[in-house]
Amino acid sequence: MKSEKTNKRKILLLGSTGSIGMSACNCVRRFIEHFEIVGMAANTNSERLLTQAKEFLPTAICIGTEESARKLRKELPKHVCVHIGVDGLVELVSEAQYDILLNALVGAVGFRPTVAALERGKTVALANKESLVIGGDLIRAHLSKGHGTLLPIDSEHSAILQCLNGEHHDAIETIVLTASGGPFRTLPAEEFERITPTKALNHPTWLMGPKITIDSATLMNKGFEAIEAHHLFNMGYDRLKVVVHPQSIVHSMVVFRDGAVMAQCGLPDMELPIQYALSYPERLPFTTKRLDLAAAGSLTFEEPNLDRFPSLRLCLEAGRAGGTLPAVLNAANEVAVNLFLEERIGFSQIPALVERALEEHTASPVTSVEQIQEIDKETRQKVRAAYQKMESR
Ligand code: MG
Repeated sequence: MKSEKTNKRKILLLGSTGSIGMSACNCVRRFIEHFEIVGMAANTNSERLLTQAKEFLPTAICIGTEESARKLRKELPKHVCVHIGVDGLVELVSEAQYDILLNALVGAVGFRPTVAALERGKTVALANKESLVIGGDLIRAHLSKGHGTLLPIDSEHSAILQCLNGEHHDAIETIVLTASGGPFRTLPAEEFERITPTKALNHPTWLMGPKITIDSATLMNKGFEAIEAHHLFNMGYDRLKVVVHPQSIVHSMVVFRDGAVMAQCGLPDMELPIQYALSYPERLPFTTKRLDLAAAGSLTFEEPNLDRFPSLRLCLEAGRAGGTLPAVLNAANEVAVNLFLEERIGFSQIPALVERALEEHTASPVTSVEQIQEIDKETRQKVRAAYQKMESR
């Protein structure tokens, strides 16, 4: 797990100032003899990026705007290369010298960097599930040609990876993704209209950024994870199950053809899946609080309610239909989640806007990064227009 020159695994960390990025920094601090951060990127939080750059001394960084880049150039040593914006992310991924790309960007913007790293044959530790949702077919095509390696950071997919250690693909019967159910698991449907961003941002078991927290509240996140699992583990949708497990102790399960069920369990803490991806296939020590099953008491499981949470149904339908539909699903969701966070639309309108975008789209096979970008842009415009029409009524 070490690169030749410095004996350390070199990490390029995209999304360093977000929740996953900061946890990744903690992992590097714990194992400074194993890892070094050679590049980092953030979108808006240039102050935190500056603090991180002063601590980890990367040779290249990327920030969202020209203005922030100018400020950072003034503060950092001359040899630090400062890239700008979405194109800057791709430059950074294409030029930097690293062993592993940790992609913790939020949204579709993470897709091109993932592809650019795989094209260079790099290992990608993926927290940006949107990469696989919108461009899973292209990513799989790269992987099947032997271009690069993909390791999941999502807790569910990390759990599945761990359950599959030493197993043959043929032996898998089903994959069971667990879902916490989010903060509105038991809320009656008629009260959904009164859900505010503040209530939706209050996740019961996981502490995460705003976009993924809203996706968790709608169960869109679980649907994305089903699409992610479909691509990561080459599993048909009829062999992917979702079960709601409010305690978030069982992170996911694999059912084998002999009926054996493997589950990976632990307290909800993203640092473990991050550390596992960075040290994979080795395990490093981690003196975190241990799971005490007797203290946890009872673990419960229930079927997800697709009527109250239509986002999960929409994901499974879009995933099954495949082609360009999941890219439409994701773009519509990103716009709708932002509109909800800005208190412009209600909680139930998130899936409504997404469903409408899906209905209006005629799916075609995914052929290129440019095609996906075009569909992403088009869908965002359409959903914004649909919202404005709704507003003006
Ligand atoms: Mg997850």
